[in-house]
Amino acid sequence: MNTQLPAAPAAAAPGDGLTTVKVAVETPQHSGLVGALDYASERSLEPGTLVRVPLGRRELLGIVWPGAATADPAAEADLAAGGDGGNGAAASHRLRPLTAVLDALPPLQPAWLALVDFAAGYYQRSVGELALAVLPPELRKVDPTQLARRLKRLAKNLAKAPAAVAEPALPELAPEQQTALEALAEQAAQARPLPLLLHGVTGSGKTEVYLRATAQALGSGRQALVLVPEINLTPQLEARFAERFPNHRLVAMHSGLTPAQRLQHWLAAHLGLADIVLGTRMAVFAPLPRLGLVVVDEEHDPSYKQQEGARYSARDLAVYRGHLHHVPVILGSATPSLETWHNAQEKRYRLQTMAARIGGGTLPRVRLFDMGVLPREKGRGGSTPLFAPAVLASLQERLDRGEQSLVFLNRRGYAPVLHCPDCGWKSGCPHCSAWRVFHKGERTLRCHHCGFTERVPRACPECGNLDIAPLGRGTEKLEEQIATLLPGARIGRIDADTARGKGELENRLAEVHAGDVDILVGTQMVTKGHDFRRMTLVVAVNPDSALFASDFRAPERLFALLMQAAGRAGRDAEAAARSEMWVQTWHPQHALYAALKKHDYAAFAGTQLAERESASLPPYSHLALLRAEARDVAVAQAFLDDAALYAQGLPGAEHAVVYPPVPPPVSKVAGIERLQMLVEAPSRGRLQRLLADWVPELHHLRQTRHKRLARWAIDVDPLGI
Ligand code: ADP
Ligand code: ZN
Ligand code: ZN
Repeated sequence: MNTQLPAAPAAAAPGDGLTTVKVAVETPQHSGLVGALDYASERSLEPGTLVRVPLGRRELLGIVWPGAATADPAAEADLAAGGDGGNGAAASHRLRPLTAVLDALPPLQPAWLALVDFAAGYYQRSVGELALAVLPPELRKVDPTQLARRLKRLAKNLAKAPAAVAEPALPELAPEQQTALEALAEQAAQARPLPLLLHGVTGSGKTEVYLRATAQALGSGRQALVLVPEINLTPQLEARFAERFPNHRLVAMHSGLTPAQRLQHWLAAHLGLADIVLGTRMAVFAPLPRLGLVVVDEEHDPSYKQQEGARYSARDLAVYRGHLHHVPVILGSATPSLETWHNAQEKRYRLQTMAARIGGGTLPRVRLFDMGVLPREKGRGGSTPLFAPAVLASLQERLDRGEQSLVFLNRRGYAPVLHCPDCGWKSGCPHCSAWRVFHKGERTLRCHHCGFTERVPRACPECGNLDIAPLGRGTEKLEEQIATLLPGARIGRIDADTARGKGELENRLAEVHAGDVDILVGTQMVTKGHDFRRMTLVVAVNPDSALFASDFRAPERLFALLMQAAGRAGRDAEAAARSEMWVQTWHPQHALYAALKKHDYAAFAGTQLAERESASLPPYSHLALLRAEARDVAVAQAFLDDAALYAQGLPGAEHAVVYPPVPPPVSKVAGIERLQMLVEAPSRGRLQRLLADWVPELHHLRQTRHKRLARWAIDVDPLGI
């Protein structure tokens, strides 16, 4: 904790040559304060100026915030003065002065402040909490002198402009790319451009559209913001942008940077020294004074939703940001989210389709294998074989031709659970309501929720039986089984376990690209983005479980995943004709698979949206999820019950539905019980008005009647329910 503070708060009040400024600081969540706090300053400061201020006994980074004097200065001044209520009245008219002004840095732009203001309101967090959370953490540590020094160093580094390099020759655009760019130009010329949904199949050349659009923006002196869903996908896209724009500066923003790099990149963006910012969801908050274009690649990807703190959707905020700056936004995907698709149908977004693969290649043929027709293997459990004979033959064919295959299974580890057939013991986690996964290579049982890990027991811990056995299959076992079935095949595996170490993922991908792997086994990690040129077969081992999952978005996810996986095959036009994807299923008649067979996203989206409408699910209704966590489930239940009761008395409550609390799929994690309660409203506006009245009371409830609650959080537009 920082304690270098003046011992006593200096008495300062407007009237003695001082002026009042509002400052957004990271206020403790329990304070329930949502606005900025008032401080005294010797001069008026432009909104967006970074300052250092005292708060309680600490000194913090803050941002001068726009707006009039506070409605309830007493409470805020009390907090700013660090009082615990005792001298609140006295403090109310004696504002504490700013400690320092970081004026070496130009103020953050009004549009940036507006973005944060909007996001804080929409996702029900205080502006200070959100604003400070999205600044580079390193900025919190610097005083004006250190900041000035860093800026000088940055200016010096960047002054060494790279010698002008010849720009690479551009490929000739395919007709659909040309049309998409014309549609974009049309929007860019509007006072209020509509976002462009670029619905392009895998391999249709969406990236080239992003590159040309970026060139347009750079050409008119603007900056471009490019978002990708996962940090794993940044290096290859970064490389393509860097290659295309050798004379422009590109900075990355993602969690893999060191704190110093993150600050440097942020400064480069804010000072307008970087022309292109490419990053993961956090990059949506990059300060970009000359913003001219926003690109959201794979816009449907759930990774765009932040899952802690302010649970914002970077995709949705990117659209809002485009709207604030009046600049075009490209949302690219082969399988758009149903929300985005619906917006396009309603003409709120402009839809542009690219149905053809570059080079005229076709999408791989999708073949379903009905696992129900296979005879069960003899012996314990009577399980079905790993691969249907036709699928095994397809794998063998690729081996014979020297082509690559991808076999994917969305479950890592060797087996999801270890089991004793004698007494029925299973490898449960003592701290969670989940099984511990058997990792054979490392001889451990590991909980994927809390991390609790133990050596695999030699015998059943309950009855001593030596014959305990794994149940089910993960990628590790899959790898082992394929090695037995196809001796001589070179098998590579990529999942969160094998890609854990630094550089591991890159190494493994490089092996695949170099042709050192015949069969790649992996989780969804390998289905995204990667451009495997020699892959002509994709096998989905058993994707059925998502068909019947309780989450209403599960089918949408599965469809996107399978389409994306299919897209890994036949990217090389010459090989496209003999590329195929096998889906092993017990439900070959399912409508989802019928649409998949035809690569018909529109048909799939149509049936899904009709189902959503009849069940009044998003995008036809708007949801918020209130989560509560406590050691004792009754404590969480009582909090949610009180919260529900209060909600029912609020104005507009008759339009909303508050559902009874239910446990999430994994109800206990690390000894903490979880419950969640869904609120549904017919429109965004109604939901927002209800939350605005409700959330302050939730803070109050937690502080007064529900002190034993470990945590609560509100998730607006939740993805997993
Ligand atoms: P998507 O992102 O839509 O899956 P990509 O942007 O990866 O597709 O494009 C697929 C391949 O086609 C890439 O290798 C890319 O370099 C190439 N490509 C894209 N546009 C063109 C073009 N106009 N002419 C030639 N090759 C292109
Ligand atoms: Zn036993
Ligand atoms: Zn656990």
